[in-house]
Amino acid sequence: MDPVFPPGASAATFDRALKAFGGAIGADNVFTTDQDRDTYSDKFAVNEAGHHPYGGVAPSSVEEVQAIVRIAAENRVPIWPISRGKNLGYGYAAPELSGSIVLDMSRMKKIEVDVENGTALLEPGVGFYDLYDYLQAHNIPLWLSVPGNSWGSVIGNALDRGLGYTPYGENTSKLCGLEVVLPDGDIIRTGMGAMAGSPTWNLYRYGFGPSWDQLFVQSNFGIVTKANIWLMSAPEQVKGMDIEMDRMEDLAPLIDTLGALRREGVLQQSPTIGNWLRAANILTTRQEWVKDGGPLTDSVIAAIRKTFNLGWWGVSVRLYGREAITNATYPILEQAINAIRPMSIKPAVWRTGDPIPPTQGGWMGVPMTFPLQNANWFGGRGGHIGFSPILPQSGKLALEQFLRAYARYREFGMDPQTSFAFGERHLINVNAVLLNKDDPAFMKRVDPFLRALIKDARAHGYGEYRTHLDYMDTVADTYDFNNHALRRLNEKVKNALDPAGILAPGKSGIWPTAYAKERRA
Ligand code: ADP
Repeated sequence: MDPVFPPGASAATFDRALKAFGGAIGADNVFTTDQDRDTYSDKFAVNEAGHHPYGGVAPSSVEEVQAIVRIAAENRVPIWPISRGKNLGYGYAAPELSGSIVLDMSRMKKIEVDVENGTALLEPGVGFYDLYDYLQAHNIPLWLSVPGNSWGSVIGNALDRGLGYTPYGENTSKLCGLEVVLPDGDIIRTGMGAMAGSPTWNLYRYGFGPSWDQLFVQSNFGIVTKANIWLMSAPEQVKGMDIEMDRMEDLAPLIDTLGALRREGVLQQSPTIGNWLRAANILTTRQEWVKDGGPLTDSVIAAIRKTFNLGWWGVSVRLYGREAITNATYPILEQAINAIRPMSIKPAVWRTGDPIPPTQGGWMGVPMTFPLQNANWFGGRGGHIGFSPILPQSGKLALEQFLRAYARYREFGMDPQTSFAFGERHLINVNAVLLNKDDPAFMKRVDPFLRALIKDARAHGYGEYRTHLDYMDTVADTYDFNNHALRRLNEKVKNALDPAGILAPGKSGIWPTAYAKERRA
């Protein structure tokens, strides 16, 4: 990949900055070859023309992060912080603004666990596998809540509001106190960490006065160099069931039933309902069913479902905790699910000491990567891109949203991979749109398809919770109350904290004045 400079920058400025970066962190940790640029690019890119990094710098400590930020501000070089840069479907490690330098914190891997209080203080480079291995090696009975792609970092996941599937599934809500380097190189600690040496930094989220943690989530106001995150106590028992529902319309009663149990507290987990393709695409490939890219007809879908015993929808529901409690709760769950006439129920029980079967790891905090297999659905060069509106926990409204989206999937010739993940009061309708990068005609349809989905959702008042770099401005535009008052506030704060506009310009549609012209219409 050839070098691209950001708007307004010159080769001379970059040269000066890169030398200074090398002086601060060692030239070996400054990466600017064509191969380095490829490494930091978006492997799933739909729009190959955008988001090209100039290179990367990989500090090993918070002091080195501060030095890099100061050099970047002095030379007006935009930097894009990543933890491990495995943000698949949302841009990988690539920056919003082409020519940015990726600030790669994957070498910062310190872990400190407070076993008694069930929390971990992590640096950005700590991956789910690293933390899992650490807990295992030290025999610490705490569990993670891992996402479907556990290749990334715990902090990166929490900072992009990624999802896991245990009762601690919403990782961002388990953040408790951050250490942050600001765009001028200053360093702060949020919450109780604002008091030097406080033993409650990891225990009380809010501190005194305004609470800043979430202002650094999906944001470009600071670089998180440490975060406390709460971990779940390993339960005595995990008991539940894998449920398959036969018909497309069964989505509605399934959501209403699980939502009611979730709000009542019977169900504390964050289950996610997936359609047949989410289950099938890791078991088979498209060519085994349809030749030459033809449509997935209802009879093909029926044949795939029959072969793998899949419902139109499936969901794994789990109860966690003391054996006596989960045993008492299980019949309540069973009765509620039987009342909506599932196609099948497969009970699952795990007790402390039992081995964890590989396919069950996701419900039990064991990192996994097998869902990445979905990128091979078409064979050849694949990938996926996210479309994920937030919906109310209403079966009727969720089904209506799905049917609208499904019509668009068919109109644009896409295969529907969709899921509905429960939060406490909301659903996240995660669509991982599967890509066939070897088919240029297919790839041309992806962008108009996503724009149609975003527009349709907005027309019903639904906004996305997270998006790929290509759509950050488009999605920010849909948050339009009072002439985009929230975006105006975000940009006021951005300009105050980062007058040179160097930190992740354009992230979440927040553009500093220095690069305001780069906003996509
Ligand atoms: P992962 O480590 O899980 O692969 P990424 O490093 O890709 O996650 O991070 C996801 C997104 O969160 C990135 O696009 C980046 O904008 C933001 N981000 C990640 N780490 C940090 C950090 N330490 N400070 C600020 N923003 C971050």
